[in-house]
Amino acid sequence: MKRAVYPGSFDPMTYGHLDIIRRAAETFDELTVSVLNNNAKNPLFSVEERVKILKEATKDLPNVNVDSFSGLLIDYAAEKNFHISVRGLRAITDFEYELQIAQTNSKLSKGKLDTIFLTARLEYAYLSSSSVKEIASFGGDISECVPDFVAKMIYQKYNQKFKGEPNEQQN
Ligand code: ADP
Repeated sequence: MKRAVYPGSFDPMTYGHLDIIRRAAETFDELTVSVLNNNAKNPLFSVEERVKILKEATKDLPNVNVDSFSGLLIDYAAEKNFHISVRGLRAITDFEYELQIAQTNSKLSKGKLDTIFLTARLEYAYLSSSSVKEIASFGGDISECVPDFVAKMIYQKYNQKFKGEPNEQQN
């Protein structure tokens, strides 16, 4: 059985992440999306909230499950017996960073953890969790970036409402 892990911060999950999840779920028999508990990043959503969002968004994908981890990916992967990590690539800037992580993980795991990259679909290539947060913090339109239930949760965090047309109101 081909299994893989898709690790990330997912703070919060966007349609870009969801597209990678759907495509990886077609490639592997089982995909575990795992939220990294990274204290250094000062996240908007707790790990529990991020896990809940991912579970809700992937509930129609039977071979996808959601987990969380802290510490090094290679230790988590060894414990759970994952040998492939999936990551998404948007632009050349992602590439440099991702290549370094992939090679470090390969070296530290003595070749036991490999990385597979899926390229972002053009329509999501501009999308990042941080830009979604910034737009939402000013009440901007994030309806094409995240599912509606996630948009509501983000606006709530910022005590904001979508300032669009009344018939496009999110809340
Ligand atoms: P990180 O794990 O680096 O903190 P994220 O949680 O945002 O960052 O992203 C997890 C993975 O998903 C990374 O490999 C990232 O490049 C990828 N990713 C993020 N946004 C998109 C997108 N819009 N399209 C495709 N892949 C993406």
